Amino acid sequence: MSGAPGGREGRHSRQVAFSGIGPEGQRKIAEARVAVVGLGALGTVIANGLARSGVGYLRLIDRDYVELSNLQRQLLYTEADAREGLPKAEAAARRLVEVDSGIELDPRVSDFGPDRAEELIRDVDLVVDGTDNLETRFILNDACVKAKLPWIYGGAVMDHGATMDIIPGEGPCLRCLMPEPPEGQDLPTCASAGVLNPITGIIGNIEVVEALKLIVGTERPRKTYLAVSLWSTDFSECEVERDPACPCCGQRRFEFLERAPSHAVVSLCGRDAFQVMPQSTRDMDLALACQRLSAAGKVRATSFMLTLEVDGRELRLFRDGRAIIGGAKSRDQALSLYTEYFGAD
Ligand SMILES: [Zn+2]
Repeated sequence: MSGAPGGREGRHSRQVAFSGIGPEGQRKIAEARVAVVGLGALGTVIANGLARSGVGYLRLIDRDYVELSNLQRQLLYTEADAREGLPKAEAAARRLVEVDSGIELDPRVSDFGPDRAEELIRDVDLVVDGTDNLETRFILNDACVKAKLPWIYGGAVMDHGATMDIIPGEGPCLRCLMPEPPEGQDLPTCASAGVLNPITGIIGNIEVVEALKLIVGTERPRKTYLAVSLWSTDFSECEVERDPACPCCGQRRFEFLERAPSHAVVSLCGRDAFQVMPQSTRDMDLALACQRLSAAGKVRATSFMLTLEVDGRELRLFRDGRAIIGGAKSRDQALSLYTEYFGAD
């Protein structure tokens, strides 16, 4: 995992010199195993910060692929990644291995759904939130509280953002703060309301600092919910109490992990696209599917993803059988297009 010790130490000398970390802290950072869930604006800031800090193992989880509109704020990606339509997990790992070939990067092109969440956070010490929607965060909260795994919540949209450390058994969880996700349709998203890249930079980097503090273990993690409104330069903090009646950390009922079947088709963060999950994970031969679909429309495949252009829509199929249906007007239409082109699920 690590090269010559001298080389590794030299690489991180500027943060080892910082008294909060020191040589012992750096050793713990090198041994740490961290999962980053979501590799959009927040997630790329987080993965970049953790990789450069020398976290020894990084699991990079994302379901989406790189598009041109990502480049304004998702700092690990390039125009070439967007042209190639690379999955974000793969593109992020390719960029970070160029930064540090001595750490272990484990890209997972996957949805963080209720059926996969527990597997995706297995064997890590800490999870950092780079997701773009509350529904996934409630699944993440359930999975981490159930596994007694600390995670760092972070979110950003427009010019504002918020973050909180969640340490199961010690402090409040996400459902102590917010018992249920608000109704989704009314919430602003990055696509509908926009987002400035400094806010994802600030929130993502605070998440990195909190992750390092948890790993090094000498400083107490921050116990407050921190909210930032950047256009008005407003930073505020409030204490969040643990709720003994909390269904998740109080009663240990993990309702969001159990809500699998109704979310087979989800709308993607305000985009004109839906994700369709197969009933069970498949292992698709994309080259074969490419041949089969050649009469249906313009089709091309890489080892990660098949892209089919048909009737002005773009349908993308991943190896695990998951698809992103661009240009669909409703869940039903997305599901019927999936069934028509990619199988009977
Ligand atoms: Zn709770």
